[in-house]
Amino acid sequence: MIQDIAPHRLDRTYVIGKPDSADIALCVRRGRVLLQRQGTDWALPRFGSGIPMEDALHVFSLDGVDCYLARTPEEVPEGMEYVDVTGIRTVRPMEVAFAAITAVQLHRWYGARQFCGHCGHKMAPSEMERAMVCPACGQTEYPKICPAVIVAVTNGDKLLLTRYANRPFRGYALIAGFVEIGETLEDTVHREVMEEVGVRVKNLRYYKNQPWAFTDTLLTGFYCELDGEEDITLDHNELCEGVWLSREEIPSRENDVSLTAEMIERFRLGKE
Ligand SMILES: [Zn+2]
Repeated sequence: MIQDIAPHRLDRTYVIGKPDSADIALCVRRGRVLLQRQGTDWALPRFGSGIPMEDALHVFSLDGVDCYLARTPEEVPEGMEYVDVTGIRTVRPMEVAFAAITAVQLHRWYGARQFCGHCGHKMAPSEMERAMVCPACGQTEYPKICPAVIVAVTNGDKLLLTRYANRPFRGYALIAGFVEIGETLEDTVHREVMEEVGVRVKNLRYYKNQPWAFTDTLLTGFYCELDGEEDITLDHNELCEGVWLSREEIPSRENDVSLTAEMIERFRLGKE
């Protein structure tokens, strides 16, 4: 998965500092991040390659090298290009992809928290922690992370797979949805499965979680079993297809960075 970058390490310790030319510069423009080509691989650009240092904002460090959100250079430096979020999923090595998408998420959050939602005053970065603070009323805003569930519903040798109706991604997905205020993760699993495909489930089992910066989400993956009838009643607003597929019928999803793909693949290979 995209966050599985060991032995590399992304350190999120909050630091207030100024960059030097050897530090990593993360330039984000309209949701695209500037990366440097290295053959078929990619690297994170350094300030020394012509990226402005003014107003740089420390976001994390990667293997001990400080990484900053930076102003975009007026001209794209030689050997670099802007990669969109779909492209980031295929960027390798994985630590570059993970740093890039995490930077995009933080850039989006800082951009959306420039003004206080309570009183409208201009906000400023906290001197203590990763937060934006309103100097007028004290309102503090932390990075936006929305919890959500990914649900693999099994029925013996079959797995319930769906396709989204109105999204660019055309492959199979699992049931997924955001946690609502006042809901537990288990409540969300039962509600989303009922809403999207109209079946009941039992024996919920937590699998893993994944920070999914693409949608400001923390995904929590569950396997569970069908409880009762397998007839599907599809929510056509969200989905165009919902099917029970046996292990042999499920298409392979190797080399995908998502928790969804890992969960489908584990079932397909008989590990679940
Ligand atoms: Zn305020």
